Amino acid sequence: MGAIQAIRGTRDILPEEVGYWQQVEAKARDIFAQAAYTEIRPPIFEQTELFARGIGEATDVVGKEMYSFIDRGDRALTLRPELTAGVVRAYIENKLAGKGGVQRLWYIGPAFRYERPQAGRQRQFHQIGVEVLGSADARADVEAIAIATDLLQSVGLRSLKLDINSVGQGEDRNAYRQALIDYLTPYKDDLDADSQDRLHRNPLRILDSKNKRTQEIVQDAPSLLEYLGDKSRAHFEQVQQLLTQLGIEYNLNPRLVRGLDYYTHTAFEIQSDDLGAQATVCGGGRYDGLVSQLGGPDTAAVGWALGMERLILLLQQRETAPTPALDFYIVSKGDAAENQALVLAQKLRHVGFKVELDLSASGLSKQFKRADRSGAIACLTLGDDEAENHTVQLKWMQTRQEVSLAQADLLSQADDFRQQLQQQKT
Ligand code: ATP
Ligand code: MG
Repeated sequence: MGAIQAIRGTRDILPEEVGYWQQVEAKARDIFAQAAYTEIRPPIFEQTELFARGIGEATDVVGKEMYSFIDRGDRALTLRPELTAGVVRAYIENKLAGKGGVQRLWYIGPAFRYERPQAGRQRQFHQIGVEVLGSADARADVEAIAIATDLLQSVGLRSLKLDINSVGQGEDRNAYRQALIDYLTPYKDDLDADSQDRLHRNPLRILDSKNKRTQEIVQDAPSLLEYLGDKSRAHFEQVQQLLTQLGIEYNLNPRLVRGLDYYTHTAFEIQSDDLGAQATVCGGGRYDGLVSQLGGPDTAAVGWALGMERLILLLQQRETAPTPALDFYIVSKGDAAENQALVLAQKLRHVGFKVELDLSASGLSKQFKRADRSGAIACLTLGDDEAENHTVQLKWMQTRQEVSLAQADLLSQADDFRQQLQQQKT
């Protein structure tokens, strides 16, 4: 029988890669905690209608990319293609608004889209993101952006580009929408099929079409920025001032859009030149209309989502995978020694050491080779003599110095050894 393979567009994150993921996750947790964001974990599947309303029928995500199915109880369900809709549903359903003030939430987890798999684009992928609910203040936009750039910098990424734009709101957006339709209508036949379809339904989305000819056409389209009303303009100017105050560099990109009505004011993207076609690592913006669109109280909000796979691809280009530091590697030969080694490993772990026990029962020289490769700071060896005397042979891997000592001493002097291990590390 043939072996079963993983589903197209999914991949296993194997031990040799997982260090990158853990590094990013740990940094993210720290950075979010420092800024008083708390984690939220919505379910992986939701009613299909949540995404239809929360992302928009006219988007690629809802129109073509959702993993939707009918369950055994005849419910129309969908594997989440992103997390914002679920977070907002949870915010409304659990009346988080009633807690007063601003809710700062973050999340991490898988999302699912039926797309053509390629580097940095999968059918199961992972997002980290934040949502700030309950503030219309430009400082909320900038705080969210600053946290994204902090996170990317904290994992060592520098050559990233932040693009920002304002999509305005209400009146100004309607005026722009009409201007854009007027501009594009004469070119209608030259637009790609999706864009033709969107000309009246969702014309703003045409601005970020990936089709070459469409891109040429929108090159000379009127700029959103010229249509911003006073309020939108003031908000956007404040965002820019605050970014400058924080020393965060940005480019104005008038073609950066979020197409749907509930997106307002700030839109932003963080890109890298080192990712080929899938250049966008992080995207976000303000969505003051979404909470009410999903049946909640009128609530201003801003957020972003970052694609973990793309971030990890960038990290892999720059550095080798972080390996977990191991204190002791334990090698043993002979029945009594092997049993004692298992017990010693447990006891050492209980006093806080990281310990790997060689389980191979192969010859000592093979076990020593593995000890070398393990990255452990010290190797502990137990043979027949050690078993009989309850001792252990300790070898510092760097200096190759060896000492024999009682197993009991190793445990009772754990603090001393911890210091010595620390010194050997540096
Ligand atoms: P793209 O234009 O690349 O399709 P998007 O606009 O669909 O991106 P968003 O919905 O804004 O992306 O999601 C935020 C981030 O999630 C993206 O910037 C990207 O890093 C990541 N992402 C989105 N779709 C995928 C996918 N299929 N595989 C891997 N990462 C993805
Ligand atoms: Mg997409």
